[in-house]
Amino acid sequence: FSMECPGMDCRIKVVLRKRPLNSKELAKNAFDVATTRTATYPNSRVFIHEPKTRVDLSKHLETHAFIFDHAFDETSTNEQVYLATGKSLVKSIFEGGKGTFFAYGQTGSGKTHTIFGSNAEPGIYSYICNDLFRHIEDSCHTATFHLRVSFFEIYGPKIIDLLTPLSANQQPSIQLCEDKHGNLNLMHLHHETISSLPDLLALVQRGRSLRTTRPTSNNNESSRSHAIFQIQLVSSDAKSNGGVLSLVDLAGSERASTKKHTGKLAASSNTQKKIQSEGAEINKSLLSLKECIRALYKRSLGQQGDSVSDSTHVPFRGSKLTLVLRDSFLCINSQTVMVATISPGSDSVEHTLNTMRYADRVKEL
Ligand code: ADP
Ligand code: MG
Repeated sequence: FSMECPGMDCRIKVVLRKRPLNSKELAKNAFDVATTRTATYPNSRVFIHEPKTRVDLSKHLETHAFIFDHAFDETSTNEQVYLATGKSLVKSIFEGGKGTFFAYGQTGSGKTHTIFGSNAEPGIYSYICNDLFRHIEDSCHTATFHLRVSFFEIYGPKIIDLLTPLSANQQPSIQLCEDKHGNLNLMHLHHETISSLPDLLALVQRGRSLRTTRPTSNNNESSRSHAIFQIQLVSSDAKSNGGVLSLVDLAGSERASTKKHTGKLAASSNTQKKIQSEGAEINKSLLSLKECIRALYKRSLGQQGDSVSDSTHVPFRGSKLTLVLRDSFLCINSQTVMVATISPGSDSVEHTLNTMRYADRVKEL
């Protein structure tokens, strides 16, 4: 299994990952609607067979085809996903690059599984951490490095630190501020200095447990927030410019579709209103993320052909998510990976098609 991508077009890579059908889906007699066909990079195909009922009430399947840089089927491992996607991000940050890895998809489709893994299978973060320290040890003779790490969630308009044990209400509110050089800083966000692999792995566990064990928290809540884990490489030798790597576990994409129901707002309770406005916020952030990646993609093609200038407008101000990520996104030497995760069950086919269309649009010009 090897998938080094040739040329500059790998600056934005969009891949699909399908998880196995789970017992809940099997119990409901859901069947697998997704088939993948892996071809030479970047031409892997995914087919979604959408069950439809004809006018005469007979059933048939309408097949939709999509092309991605790679398609991982239900037998794939996090290590395989890492080798094809995250590994090149690690390499680039030692050259001052900025790498961002997004997991996009419906709740339950495998975003957190891919990034953070489970007890049975470590997530791609663990391969990243291992490789980072391997590179640091290799580069020992030229420069010494340490890491500056932050881990936080964007939940509606709020930014919540996952590295301070205070509950969200007790935390000093984290504000996004622009300094006189035009850099964006997150005021009051905790950054931890890390110089060993075990410390880094322990920090991720600490942040993750805070994410899931906060008193107000349940699995439902994690689907409504974007979690961002950021590693900045700091060199003691000021000459080598360290890069930044960000792992972003996005809010469940199905949340975005709640905006459809806004017509019923008058009759709804406060909780419903809250859910709807959250949906609208998530929708806004996911849409503006797509627009930013598209603009960056256009720009990177321009640099390659050297004809289009750097002037493609990237609409970072469209949402808090994209604004927070602006400085780790916006640079010549940046690489972006999006893994679109899907639940293959026939009961999720609508969400799956939405995810495929979103991922498809990310690289469409
Ligand atoms: P999300 O973060 O997108 O809401 P999760 O990553 O929590 O979804 O996945 C939901 C469940 O499915 C978890 O129990 C997870 O372990 C399992 N799962 C997800 N992807 C896979 C996969 N590729 N292989 C095996 N199990 C998976
Ligand atoms: Mg999750």
